[in-house]
Amino acid sequence: MAGIDNNVKLDLKCPQCKTKFKKTIRQLKRPGVKCPKCGISFETSKFKKGLDKVDRELKDFQRKFGNIKIKL
Ligand SMILES: [Zn+2]
Repeated sequence: MAGIDNNVKLDLKCPQCKTKFKKTIRQLKRPGVKCPKCGISFETSKFKKGLDKVDRELKDFQRKFGNIKIKL
């Protein structure tokens, strides 16, 4: 059963230097993401919490509606 595709890339913006960069969901699930430019690390636990919720809902949805493959 598939949930969120961990290889999907998301656009992020560094809270310090405003650099935009991409990280995969897999990378964002790890604690602390580092900005490639200034090297500051910021907290992703809030993001992960939201992601886990979506993931659960997706799986729940798939359980109810069968073998639908959702591509994000
Ligand atoms: Zn930065």
